Amino acid sequence: MSDPQPRSSLPEGLRPGTLAVRGGQERTGFHEISEPLFLTQGYSYPRAADAEAAFLGELDRFTYTRYSNPTTSAFEERLRLIEGAEACFATATGMAAVFASMACLVKAGSRIVAGRAMFGSTLLVLDELFTGWGIETVYVDAHDNAQWAKALATPADVVFFETPSNPMQDIVDVPEVSRLAHAAGAVVIVDNVFATPVLQRPLELGADVVVYSATKHIDGQGRVMGGAVLGPRDYIVGPLQTFLRNTGPTMSPFNAWTLLKSIETMDLRVHRQCESALAVARWLEDRSEVTQVRYPYLESHPQHELVKLQQSAGGTVVAFTLDGPADDPEGGKHRSFAFLDALRLIDISNNLGDAKSLVTHPATTTHMKTGFSGRQRVGISETTIRLSIGLEDPRDLLDDLERGLAAGW
Ligand SMILES: *Cc1c(COP(=O)(O)O)cnc(C)c1O
Repeated sequence: MSDPQPRSSLPEGLRPGTLAVRGGQERTGFHEISEPLFLTQGYSYPRAADAEAAFLGELDRFTYTRYSNPTTSAFEERLRLIEGAEACFATATGMAAVFASMACLVKAGSRIVAGRAMFGSTLLVLDELFTGWGIETVYVDAHDNAQWAKALATPADVVFFETPSNPMQDIVDVPEVSRLAHAAGAVVIVDNVFATPVLQRPLELGADVVVYSATKHIDGQGRVMGGAVLGPRDYIVGPLQTFLRNTGPTMSPFNAWTLLKSIETMDLRVHRQCESALAVARWLEDRSEVTQVRYPYLESHPQHELVKLQQSAGGTVVAFTLDGPADDPEGGKHRSFAFLDALRLIDISNNLGDAKSLVTHPATTTHMKTGFSGRQRVGISETTIRLSIGLEDPRDLLDDLERGLAAGW
């Protein structure tokens, strides 16, 4: 490589859509247009004294890819600029981000207050791992401010929630819950996977930390796993960085490169997916085979007014309930499978946020372990269907849903 160029300085005040394409890029001496991929584990030192200085922390440079890598740093910087956060750390998966964001803050005796409706692996971390380590979690129905107030009348270390929640799209009042959490001494961590960085900015709403599964809308094309934690500098370049660098769930530079390119089209993709999702949600509302549709930007959503204050669109996921035995696990499964198996375009998958539309029966997959009563508590019936809307022509999606709804059961 010839002499590296100085960091190209972008004009001030660029908007997120522009930062998604331009942010975080540091060109090498080859003046390449597209971001380079530094597929390297390590780095060499011109002199022994440079290695010593790096280890003393006197020289700011790359030392080992578990710590940092130029391509991964470019991804972190791009996402950081879009989110408007002070700092960002990329992780191997979304769960590494979720786990580390809390694990670096808690110890035996700590207290976490969390939303009840959450991603399955997040619940497992809280219920099985953290409980065994002497860390208590108190759950609340996350749409209910009174429950948050009650739980946060006692001091807490961490408040963790998803908004909208998976799959029933409950919304958390981020400013009010953040206020209550801060009064209780807690750090507020938001899993912003469903809303994406495009639709919702939790840090501006009062939260402290945002976590992502980049596997979902950030890649959005079903290729690589990834995650990220964003927040204040003293937290990210403090306990979080120490935890991640030394426990090891680092993002692969190859995945970081893929995600850097994915971010360039994220805004376009997510907006198009939201438009289609709203059209699909409205169409489903008019169908006699569907008894309930949950989508944040439908007027029928119980928290529609709050959603409009927090999100610039309704998101890419629609949940709905099919007619039939909604409270009977066997009958509900039979009815739901008839619908799923009649689809010919939309894929049956437990993933979401993809360019390809995906459909899930939560009761037999993502929320099987929760059990019947656990599902009832978070409003998931035995005929609830989760639909992740992709980039296909929405008319073809409606034709496919028509096929599904026409299936006998
Ligand atoms: C997928 C997902 C995660 C976990 O992300 P992985 O990349 O699969 O580890 C966490 N939270 C939510 C809301 C998710 O949808």
